[in-house]
Amino acid sequence: MVGKKQSSGRSRPRRADAASGRRRRPKRGAGGSEEATPARIQSWVDDPASPWGLMERPAPVLDARPLAFSISGEAIPVGVYDPGTAGFRHWTAADSLRRTADLWAPLLGRHRVKRWQPAETLPVTLDAGSDLNAYYDRTQLVFFHSGRGKAAVYSGESPDIVCHETGHACLDALRPDLWDAPFIEIAAFHESFGDITAMLAALALPQVRESVLPALVANKASPLSRIAEQLGGAMRRFHPAAVESDCLRNASNRWKYVAPESLPASAPATELSAEPHAFSRVFTGAFHDLLSRMLRDTGPSPSADDLVAVAAAAARLVIDAVAAAPVQPDFFAQVGARLIDVDAAVFAGRYGAVITDVLVGRRILTAATAPGDRSDAATGKRAAAAGGPRQTLEINAAPYGLSTGGILVDVPRAFGAGAAAGRRGVAATDPTAAMERSADRFIGVLFENQRIELPARIRAKGIAASAPAAGGRATHVLSRTDGHLRLSRLRFDGVGW
Ligand SMILES: [Zn+2]
Repeated sequence: MVGKKQSSGRSRPRRADAASGRRRRPKRGAGGSEEATPARIQSWVDDPASPWGLMERPAPVLDARPLAFSISGEAIPVGVYDPGTAGFRHWTAADSLRRTADLWAPLLGRHRVKRWQPAETLPVTLDAGSDLNAYYDRTQLVFFHSGRGKAAVYSGESPDIVCHETGHACLDALRPDLWDAPFIEIAAFHESFGDITAMLAALALPQVRESVLPALVANKASPLSRIAEQLGGAMRRFHPAAVESDCLRNASNRWKYVAPESLPASAPATELSAEPHAFSRVFTGAFHDLLSRMLRDTGPSPSADDLVAVAAAAARLVIDAVAAAPVQPDFFAQVGARLIDVDAAVFAGRYGAVITDVLVGRRILTAATAPGDRSDAATGKRAAAAGGPRQTLEINAAPYGLSTGGILVDVPRAFGAGAAAGRRGVAATDPTAAMERSADRFIGVLFENQRIELPARIRAKGIAASAPAAGGRATHVLSRTDGHLRLSRLRFDGVGW
């Protein structure tokens, strides 16, 4: 894929008119004028299909630590390449990868996280073949292409998608215990964190802050809130109902929380479902509200500089809150309650009223449970639950058409009537039974969406009989262990079908 196409497609360094995104050739003197040009690359600002177009950027240092990357394949010389070339795709992806790692690295560092979950350097495959998706599988980030020629869509060419996937890797570095957590809200929060990452990484760009300011103050949809416009458009041709009308997922939305266990496993994008990408829109919507409300709270006419401060505060709030949130079925509320705790501890309660208002408005918290106790969020320590005592639950596999014992999942030992219990009442009466019900529904949703891979030579009837083959689109796998099956995660991907 790389190689010939790349060298023939490589353009000479050019200057870009940042405002219009139009490129023009530099005036070429009697040779040697390029030597003085600092190392620059060209990239999409937000998404190939976003109206924000192209930008020139200093060449990113991909292997900078902490959170280094290495893109597989031949090294591509630094330069301003034309869209449609492998060189352009390489440096667009590199800029998005580095910008995301630079966004989260200082905040992860406060939690003593200085490397990826799998290694110091995270490998990246920019084009693993034909698919409309992308994933993080704890060994690498993987992107694909779909279609040919000018109509080809490369998921690794969209900053939205690259930042989303890198977000999964950043959250996995901070909270590796979320990986196998068998609850819909935790899978959905991971997806939401990916989209939040895409927005915050975009807000690291001055031109994005300037452009988005009016829409964000008005809490309206914008290229910032529209995640993966191009991939969403490509999806729409195959699955018209499965994506939003103008992007893959829109953070500017009105979705309100309902217990995801009560929702169908999948639904058109115009409805809420328990599918994690679809359900993630509830928390992402709350985050978009939060950005808007925090911005408006800065004064009568917020500036792009105010947005710098608000984005930095929002990033700090989210990281410290998720670092402290215990693995529980009601994970949105767990993170939500800790947003309030972190605000009290770090920002002296400056944003507390806004956070409460937004989360109660989204029904993530109820008015009665909103002000959380002072949890370990205040100390900046890792969640106690991350390294706390565990228990194994056995979920009955027979309803899914499997006769091989039960499906084993690991969850934390039940909380007493402590911080989590009573936040929204989910865990108040019998926490273990609540976790069991939630894990059972999580497995059901995975089976219904054909996201669980089965071990070889297993007898399956019912819904398990239509499980995808190895190497397919599964996010989870069942493996045999002592007459039982154990559920573990294979990957987080970018789209939900
Ligand atoms: Zn994802």
